[in-house]
Amino acid sequence: MFVIDDNFLDEIRDRADIVDLIGEYVELKRSGANYMGLCPFHSEKTPSFSVSPSKNIFKCFGCGEGGDVITFVMKRENLGFREAVEFLAEKYNITLREYRDVNKEAKEKIEMLYDINRSAAMYFLKNLQKSKKAIDYLKNRGLSAKTMAKYGLGYSEDSWTSLYDYLTKLGYKEEEIYEVNLISKGKSGNYYDRFRGRVMFPIINRNNRVIGFGARGFGDAKPKYLNSRETPIFNKGKNLFNMNIISKESSRERIILVEGYMDVISLYNSGINYSVASLGTSLTEDQAVLIGKMAKEIYICYDSDNAGINATSRAIDIFIQKSIKPKIIELGEGLDPDDFIKKYGLDAFENKIKSAISYVEFKVKRLKGNFNLKDSQGLSNFSMEAAKIFSGIINPIERDIFVKKFSSEYNISKEAINNYINYIGRNKRKELKKTKIKINKNTVVDTKEKAQIELLSYSLLHRDIYNYIKNKIEITYFTNIKTRIVFEEALRIFENDMEISDFLKELVNSNSIDDDFANKIIKITGNIEVNNKIIDELISTIERNYLKSEKEKILKNIEKLQVEKDKNLLLQALNDLKEINLKLNELKEEGKYEW
Ligand SMILES: [Zn+2]
Repeated sequence: MFVIDDNFLDEIRDRADIVDLIGEYVELKRSGANYMGLCPFHSEKTPSFSVSPSKNIFKCFGCGEGGDVITFVMKRENLGFREAVEFLAEKYNITLREYRDVNKEAKEKIEMLYDINRSAAMYFLKNLQKSKKAIDYLKNRGLSAKTMAKYGLGYSEDSWTSLYDYLTKLGYKEEEIYEVNLISKGKSGNYYDRFRGRVMFPIINRNNRVIGFGARGFGDAKPKYLNSRETPIFNKGKNLFNMNIISKESSRERIILVEGYMDVISLYNSGINYSVASLGTSLTEDQAVLIGKMAKEIYICYDSDNAGINATSRAIDIFIQKSIKPKIIELGEGLDPDDFIKKYGLDAFENKIKSAISYVEFKVKRLKGNFNLKDSQGLSNFSMEAAKIFSGIINPIERDIFVKKFSSEYNISKEAINNYINYIGRNKRKELKKTKIKINKNTVVDTKEKAQIELLSYSLLHRDIYNYIKNKIEITYFTNIKTRIVFEEALRIFENDMEISDFLKELVNSNSIDDDFANKIIKITGNIEVNNKIIDELISTIERNYLKSEKEKILKNIEKLQVEKDKNLLLQALNDLKEINLKLNELKEEGKYEW
């Protein structure tokens, strides 16, 4: 544990050379004063990802991602603000103010559990080579030796104690092996291997740790799949199968959610490295959030049987709750992705991705089956239910597209559908009115810090506002460190449906901010109402403040360089000055935005 104070961020920025750091992940080529490369956050063939050593920031002109070294590490390594700071501090040997780690013992215990799982995975892997039956099974499913190795597939011998014997010989204690659910306890207190005569799928997290196992039996073994239970290191609801591969190899453009391990592995075997599966349970909210974070386009491709279609419906609802809009890949013929690719090949599957339908279309299609459309009452009821689905689409343009399509397909007038949507909306608004908060006109304030804190408060009110601000502002404009921390972490509020006060409490508990600051934010957020104009003004104020202070620095630098007569650096500084003046001028023409 350590305390982040105001100077700390500067120290990290000074010490961590942004070009060097990003250069470890992206091949950068010099282009004028900046460096360019292929963006690591979206897939592209011509570089639009730029790193500016003089400003210490990166920016992608393709997907809009941008920020400083801390933001980069947060995004690329998928860490929280605090963790990213720790990551950089460790990397660049910046000493943190240490606290005594009271949890040392617990940490060692956890390490031990990971060790046991790793040893077991190695053991299963070795067994596989000795089992013709298991190898044949995997080969028959079309898997190459390379794919098998990639996923560390293994085999658990058909024996009651072979793993138990192996692990205890290595020195691990019975209770610990039991704790990771690799052995079970009999009535007389004797331990025996839990997985016997099964193909083993190690479940590996993003840090390449084996957290649990899935195991498939042969023939009509019951159950077909047996999974590790939840253990201190295996939280099923917060992990997904294939996260390790997604983290290291996939472009993060898209993720396909499939039903099982074999689907994931079979897709990988065919060249698709961006699918995930939940771990023997149905999709959880945490998993949906995780998927949403890891890619821009989310697809669901469950089996096309009845169970799969029902599961798709449930998964859609979970995604929508988290403001993620999935597309649905429909394979047809009752096939799963594994069957489909074997039958029709990769190209056909990629065509299915291209023709994936939106979640709205999926829902309407499913709804249709419940009504007799030849009957006018049936058609009317169907249309009203469909209107309910459309009313849930917040973006009016998007909604209009679906209404139009529906209107022409079923010959119901657009006006009638829209009227009904408005009627539903009025009822919803009546309920919302009860929770409205007071408006405070005197909210725009002048001092540098206050503007930052106030903008931050707005960003906590709604995900759309947060996104709007994030797209409009460079993260480095938040010069107040506490403001910066809260802003960088704020997405959690929306992803986990948190109360602002609970979220801030968490940050206080982790020493990231203090009570005073948290209370200040709570007070402001309780007293403001969304106001686009004020938000735009705040953004401009903060940007202006930042640019002005940068300008002063450059002017001082120019004075110094003139004395030193360093022509190149002087030219660079003059260029920077020109750029800043341009930006300051642009700020005078303020933009408008609505959400
Ligand atoms: Zn990009």
